[in-house]
Amino acid sequence: MDGEYRSVREVQSSEFDGREAFVRGWIHRTRSSNKYVFIVLRDSTGIIQCVGSREDIPDLFDIAKELLVESSVRLKGKVKKDDRAPGGYELHMTGIEVVHAAERFPITKDQSEEFLRDNKHLWIRSRRMNAILKVRSTVTGAIHSFFRERGYHEFTPPIFTPNACEGGSTLFEVKYYDSTIFLTQSWQLYAEAAIFSLERIYDVSPTFRAERSKTSRHLSEFWMAEMEAAWIGYLDAVRIAQDEVKHILGRVLNENMEDLELLGAEPERLRKSLDVEWPVITYTEALDILKEKCNMDVEWGKDLRTIEEERLMENFSTPVTVIQYPKEVMAFYKPVEEGADAPGPVAKCFDMLAPGGYGEIIGGSERDMDIGSLKAALEREGESVENYDWYLDLRRYGSVQHSGYGLGVERLIAWICKLDNIKDAIPFPRTLNRVRP
Ligand code: ATP
Ligand code: MG
Repeated sequence: MDGEYRSVREVQSSEFDGREAFVRGWIHRTRSSNKYVFIVLRDSTGIIQCVGSREDIPDLFDIAKELLVESSVRLKGKVKKDDRAPGGYELHMTGIEVVHAAERFPITKDQSEEFLRDNKHLWIRSRRMNAILKVRSTVTGAIHSFFRERGYHEFTPPIFTPNACEGGSTLFEVKYYDSTIFLTQSWQLYAEAAIFSLERIYDVSPTFRAERSKTSRHLSEFWMAEMEAAWIGYLDAVRIAQDEVKHILGRVLNENMEDLELLGAEPERLRKSLDVEWPVITYTEALDILKEKCNMDVEWGKDLRTIEEERLMENFSTPVTVIQYPKEVMAFYKPVEEGADAPGPVAKCFDMLAPGGYGEIIGGSERDMDIGSLKAALEREGESVENYDWYLDLRRYGSVQHSGYGLGVERLIAWICKLDNIKDAIPFPRTLNRVRP
C-alpha cells in the first residue's frame, strides 16, 4: 500500500480530522460483527481504534476478521474525531494490507508476573513496558544532558576489572584467557584516575553484583549513573545529586506525562517534590528519628537495613540524604569526617533515599587522599594491598580533594514509575534466579 505513513500519535490530531491517513503497526485488540471489524492498532507512539465495514473493504473484510493479535498490518483510512475512542480519534478503514499474520499470541489477560517475565521478549510490546521503557530513555537522556550542560565529560570505564571496589562478596568472576578476573561493581577506581585528566566526569554504564539476597530492589546486572569531580567535597556532591535527580524528574514530567498516567505512577507526588528543599540529615539524626517516631532502636555503628530505611522514609515525602555513616561499616576509600557531632568516627559519605519504600537511590562520598589510611583500611577488609598499587599511585602524584557518587538507574525508575519490582525497570532483568530470556 503506497502512501506516507504517519505515527498513531500524529494522526490523532485535529490536523488529520476528516483526512485520509496511512498507519502501520501491530494489532493490539480485535473484535468483529457481521458488518464491522474493529482493530485497535498499536505502534510505538500509542493505540488507535480502526473500524472497517464489509462495504468499505469488501475484498479484505473476511481476512481482517480472522487476524490474530500482534499481526503486523498497514492500514489506510479516514481519520474521524470520536470522543469515545482512546486518543479521541478513530480511523475508518478503506484499505488493509497484512504484512505478517501472527500465530496465537501466548500472552493474554491475567497472567502471572512470572509468566510475563518468562515471556519478556513478547511482553516488551505491552503498553506498560512501552511506557516504562520510554521513561527509562528520558531518564538516561536527562542524565547525559544534566552533566554535559555543566561541563562534565563522559568517561567510560572498563567492564573487566582485576579489583573489587564494593567488597569481594558480590563480585562476578569471569574466565579471562588463562586467569580469572571480575565484572565491574563500580567505575569508581577508574573514575578517580580519570579526574586527574578531565576533572569532571560522568557515565551511565552497566554494573554487575552477585546479590544473593532476593529483594525487589537488587538486580545482578544494573545500570549505574556515576559522577566524579576534582576539587569538591562530599557535601558539594550532595547538592549536585539533588540537582541531578530534580533535573531528571523535571524532564520526565515534561516528556512522559501520558506514560506516567498509564502506569498509575501518580506524577503529582513527583511534581510536588520539585517545589521543596530535600532534607539532609546525619546518620545519628536518622537514628534519633527512628527511635522517637518509629519506635525502633538501632545500635549506633550498624548500617541501616532495608526495614530501617523504609521506616525512616515514612516520615518524608521527598528524597532524603543521610550523611556521615559510621566509618566502620563503610568501604575502604571513604575518609573520616573529623570533628563531627557523633558518638564514633563517621565517614564523609552520603546515601540518598527515595520515599515510598524505594530505598537507596544514590550512594556517594569523598575519597580518602591519605595513602596510609587507605592501605590500613584495605588490610582491615582483607584485601591484598598490592592489587591496589595502581590505585594508590593516584595518591602519589598531585592528589587533590575529590568526590563522587553512583545513582542506581533502575531504582530511580522504579520510584518514578511506582513499580512494585525493580525487575520491571530494565528490559531483560538478571537476578539470582533469572537470566532468560
Ligand atoms: P544497597 O545497600 O541497596 O545494596 P549499595 O550501598 O550496595 O546499595 P552503592 O554501592 O552505593 O549501593 O551503589 C550505588 C547505587 O547503585 C545505589 O544507591 C543503588 O541505587 C544502586 N544499586 C546498588 N546495588 C544495586 C543492585 N544490586 N541492583 C540495582 N541497583 C543497585
Ligand atoms: Mg549493595
